[in-house]
Amino acid sequence: MKKIKELISTLEVFAPLALQEDYDNAGLSVGDAENEIQGCLICLDVNEDVIEEAARKNCGLILSHHPVIFKGIKKLTGHSMTERIIATAIRKDIAIYSMHTNLDNTDEGVNRILCEKFGLENLSILRKTTGILKKLVTFCPVEHADKVRLAIFNAGAGHIGEYDQCSFNAEGQGSFRAGDRANPFVGNVGEMHFEKETRIETIYPAYLQKSVIRALLESHPYEEVAYDIYPLENEFKQAGAGMMGELKEAMAETDFLQLIKKTLNIPVIRHSALLGKKVKKVAVCGGSGSFLIPDAIRHNADIFVSADIKYHQFFDAEGKIVIADAGHFETEQFTCILLEGYLKKKFPNFAVQISETPVNPVKYF
Ligand SMILES: [Zn+2]
Repeated sequence: MKKIKELISTLEVFAPLALQEDYDNAGLSVGDAENEIQGCLICLDVNEDVIEEAARKNCGLILSHHPVIFKGIKKLTGHSMTERIIATAIRKDIAIYSMHTNLDNTDEGVNRILCEKFGLENLSILRKTTGILKKLVTFCPVEHADKVRLAIFNAGAGHIGEYDQCSFNAEGQGSFRAGDRANPFVGNVGEMHFEKETRIETIYPAYLQKSVIRALLESHPYEEVAYDIYPLENEFKQAGAGMMGELKEAMAETDFLQLIKKTLNIPVIRHSALLGKKVKKVAVCGGSGSFLIPDAIRHNADIFVSADIKYHQFFDAEGKIVIADAGHFETEQFTCILLEGYLKKKFPNFAVQISETPVNPVKYF
């Protein structure tokens, strides 16, 4: 047995909710996080059959990629599929938690596994997230700098790309005068004191602010800790939409299209005109990724593999790139394996399984 909230807090380390897009509704949409459950069923989409399957398999939590609730719901009369899903889930005491664009936007998410399946190397995020990084500057006695730095690093600060524990440190002098009710760590009440201090600068994503500041306050010896928080315009390299990488050996366009068909097990790909050159750099976005066509072109990708490409959007290829639509379900199909692998690693003795109910609403004739 596990409390749903235990699973949720682990899942949100993997894909923080703060990384979801504005329009999204990822997170717990049905159920009580305090409930204890015996198992978790993973799926791409929830339908009534998936809820029946969860009930049959004693899974008190359904973990889906697509949220069941997107728009506001004003009644629960069973007239729409969403209403019936919610009502049935509540009746059967099954919670529904979704990891959607927050999972798409993590470095270790949907697109990385897609790139790996295509055999791509040197992976990087296609459109990196901006506006999420913050800078922390703090000042502490020189001999305590190691302890404070380590504490804030352990709370998640100091990550830049493939590096961690990044900071800038400069020594200087701090001054203060303790008031009558103060209990100063150094210096005397009522006297101005100068102390040799280290100025520590580091960065962190905004969603880690609570834990980073808590770590700072707990590790710092002063009664009143001086620190500054600055918002940054920098890109956050560990999060964003889409991903790109390179094939070990360049291959003919048709060979790569064949590779997509085989990897995703699909009968057909819709694509823009082939350019008659070899494919080496590949951009991907599992699910609806047409908004990333300009990014794929800007990064000189030879081909962009995504889904839900509209007729007019194929024109945007403009002879610069091949746009390939390989299906929404199909380009996201490895998401369940990804989530299963993560949960099994974190909770080896907990029953986690992938749903066997077919949910892809698109058929090929
Ligand atoms: Zn999707």
